[in-house]
Amino acid sequence: YARLTTPAWVARVLPPRTPASHKGTFGKVGIAVGEMAGAALLAGTGAARSGAGYVVLGVPGERLVAPYEFIQRPLCADHPHTLADVLADCQALVLGPGWGRRTADWAVVVNRAPQPAVIDADALPLWQPAAGAGAGPRVLTPHPKECARLLGWPMADVQARRLAAAQTLARAAQAVVVLKGYRTIVAAPDGRIRVNPTGDASLATAGSGDVLAGVIGGLLAQGLDPFDAAAAGVYLHGLAGELAGRRLTMAATMASDVVQHLPQAIAAVC
Ligand code: AMP
Ligand code: MG
Repeated sequence: YARLTTPAWVARVLPPRTPASHKGTFGKVGIAVGEMAGAALLAGTGAARSGAGYVVLGVPGERLVAPYEFIQRPLCADHPHTLADVLADCQALVLGPGWGRRTADWAVVVNRAPQPAVIDADALPLWQPAAGAGAGPRVLTPHPKECARLLGWPMADVQARRLAAAQTLARAAQAVVVLKGYRTIVAAPDGRIRVNPTGDASLATAGSGDVLAGVIGGLLAQGLDPFDAAAAGVYLHGLAGELAGRRLTMAATMASDVVQHLPQAIAAVC
């Protein structure tokens, strides 16, 4: 049966910040930058604000204007290093946000990278569990339309049977599935399932899904179990959205405001 995620549960699964810890303790999150670089930057800030030690961007073309803290590694056409190479030392990956058309040659990273990875947006149709020999655990983060496409169900059926849709996709994809939207569902292939109580229409704005992908990536880099990372990430992201909306109005809240309220969301559960 489905459990409701509670703040006490989130506080329990979040990694402790022990006195002698250092940035290496909390892992590197590797993010592949596509056509819409803003999506990768939102994901990166989400990862940094959820406690990851480093954010590493694999950047095709020009260096980005990005937070000082981010590490940028070039992926030029005349550069010998592939995406898999430049992200090889990362403990978790975020794949898909803002990729656009630049995706086909990254299917191998989606399907084969040994690290745990969040698979979102344009990377979702590339995931093939059968091709994933040696791949690390995967967290798929579809919104209802993306979920409908992956399952081959009409979108109305996904929304009418959200628990069943998330569970069916988790089994078929052999991955943790985050079915986004009002009352986000998190389902694991082993049958664990959670319903998330946080989040409101403050999150109905471009980029909020990219922030969520980064938050989950940040928790994966810190070594959380993929199901726990997904459920805790969804909870904190939703709460950050509510807090941003309360302060700024739901209508005026942008995805970057949601990131800025992650600290308050973390403080509220701990
Ligand atoms: P995306 O469609 O990929 O940008 O993701 C949107 C994000 O915002 C997901 O995390 C959704 O769960 C969240 N979201 C959007 N609208 C709502 C809503 N009305 N209530 C709760 N969460 C929402
Ligand atoms: Mg999205």
